[in-house]
Amino acid sequence: MIPPIARRFVAGESAAAALDHVRRCNDREIKVILNLLGEHYTDPVAADEDAREYATLLEDLAGTDLDACVSVKPSQIGLDVSEARFRDNLRTIVDRAEEHDQFVWIDMEDHTTTDPTLDAFEEIVSERGGGMGLCLQANLKRTRDDVERLTDVPGKVRLVKGAYDEPATIAYRSKERVDEVYGELLDYMFEQYDGGIAVGSHDPVMIDRARELHDAYGTSFEIQMLMGVREDAQEELAREYEVWQYAPYGSRWFAYFSRRAMESRKNALFALRAVLGR
Ligand code: FAD
Repeated sequence: MIPPIARRFVAGESAAAALDHVRRCNDREIKVILNLLGEHYTDPVAADEDAREYATLLEDLAGTDLDACVSVKPSQIGLDVSEARFRDNLRTIVDRAEEHDQFVWIDMEDHTTTDPTLDAFEEIVSERGGGMGLCLQANLKRTRDDVERLTDVPGKVRLVKGAYDEPATIAYRSKERVDEVYGELLDYMFEQYDGGIAVGSHDPVMIDRARELHDAYGTSFEIQMLMGVREDAQEELAREYEVWQYAPYGSRWFAYFSRRAMESRKNALFALRAVLGR
C-alpha cells in the first residue's frame, strides 16, 4: 500500500485508483496524463507487459467520460531491449489510442535516447497525422534544432527544462542558462508552431512568458505540471487555460516518490514533516 506521504505524488497502485484520481482532477477542470511507473527494462517480457497494460488502460478510459491521456517512457516499452521492440510496442499503444481518439505522449529520457525517441515519434506521428506528443528538454544544446525540426510535424511538443544530469559537452548545466534557453525556445514555438505547445513547467516565470506569447501570437497552448506540485496553481490556471496534470501510478512508486521528495528543499521538508507527523 502506498503510504499517505507518497500519495501526494502518486495516483495509486492500480489502474482503478488512477482513474479515481482522474475523476477528482476532472472535477477541478484539470485533465490528467497517466504514467504507469516503470523504466529501463532489459527484459522484453516486462516491456511488452507494460505496453499491454497501457493498451488496457486506454480501453478502460474509453469506456468512461474521463478527460485523460497517457505518457510512456521509451525504456519502459523496450528501448533498452532494441529500437525495434520500442517501436513495435509504441505502435501497439498508439493503435489502441487511435481506435478511441485518445492521445499518447512520449517522455524524454537521458541524451542517449534522444535520437531513437525523436525518430520513432516523427515517423509514427507523421503516418497518423497527429494524436501524439513528444517531450523535449531545454537543457540539451541540440534541442533548438529538434524544436525547429518538429515545426511542421503533426502532434504536440512538451517543453521541459530537463531532469537528467547530462555532461557539459552536450548540455547547459547552470539553472540560469537553462531558464534563458527555455524562454528562447518558447519564443520560437509560439511564433512558429500552429499550436500543440505544452509548457511542462512549474515555473511561474515561464508560465507568465507563455501567457504573454499566447496573447501576442494567439498560438494555442496547454500547461502541464506534476501531481503534488503547485496544485493550487494548477487549479487557478485551469480556470483560464488548459491544464494537464502528469500523474504516475503503479506498484513501482517508491523510486519516483523518492526523486520527487528530494527534488527540492520544499518537498524534502514536506516529507520530513510528514514522517515526524507535524
Ligand atoms: P524549476 O526550475 O525546478 O523551478 C522553477 C520555479 O518553479 C521555482 O523557483 C518555483 O517558483 C516553482 N516550483 C518548482 N517546483 C516547485 C514546488 N515543488 N513547489 C512550489 N513551487 C515550485 N523531464 C524530462 O527530462 N523528461 C520528461 O519527459 C519530463 N516530463 C515532464 C512532464 C511534466 C508534466 C513536467 C511538469 C515535468 C517533466 N519533466 C521531464 C521534468 C522537468 O524536466 C523538470 O525537471 C521539472 O519540471 C522541474 O523544472 P521546472 O520547470 O518545473 O522548474
